[in-house]
Amino acid sequence: MSASNAQKLQYIEGLIKDCHKCPLYKTATNPVPGHGNADAKIVFIGEAPGFYEDQQGLPFVGNSGKLLDKLLASISLKREDVFICNILKHRPPENRDPTPAEIKICTPFLKAQLQIIKPRVIITLGRFALNYFFPADYISKVHGQVKPLLWQELSLTIIPVYHPSAGLRSGAMMTALQTDFINIGQFLTSKLATFSSST
Ligand code: URA
Repeated sequence: MSASNAQKLQYIEGLIKDCHKCPLYKTATNPVPGHGNADAKIVFIGEAPGFYEDQQGLPFVGNSGKLLDKLLASISLKREDVFICNILKHRPPENRDPTPAEIKICTPFLKAQLQIIKPRVIITLGRFALNYFFPADYISKVHGQVKPLLWQELSLTIIPVYHPSAGLRSGAMMTALQTDFINIGQFLTSKLATFSSST
């Protein structure tokens, strides 16, 4: 019998836990591999664990996570319906930005997770996740756009949005996030039948 997606993801989690390829594991409390539905059609990708995520080993459990939960609820989604993860799997000290070297070293884990889950839609949260798929794009220009992408033999739809932490800092970005989520909800409603009828 072949392994389930959940078992395959667990194997990747083990590799992340043991990863010493960059120094971030030394200052982190826990790795944060990602969490949610291993068979999800929709994956959310953030930047890197913050303080609370590092404490709990779970993605988006701090203030940004509370906002993400509200945004998910606004389009009738729950965490159990989706998979949520980050570009980096260990917290950068003081929540500084990920470095290009850290991104290069860490993203093979993300790639492996996506190749297991095989989602149809990826919502990128903030510029680091956007630039993983579209290195030249600016989040301020492309947020809310529906961007088809053939990536690693997966036929994806990428929808970039501002990072929830940007929404917490600025009213304008909060409005943009809420509007973009309304459009994501409409896009998903129009596509859901297609997702469930084909694998
Ligand atoms: N910000 C992120 O990008 N990811 C998290 O998991 C938490 C905050």
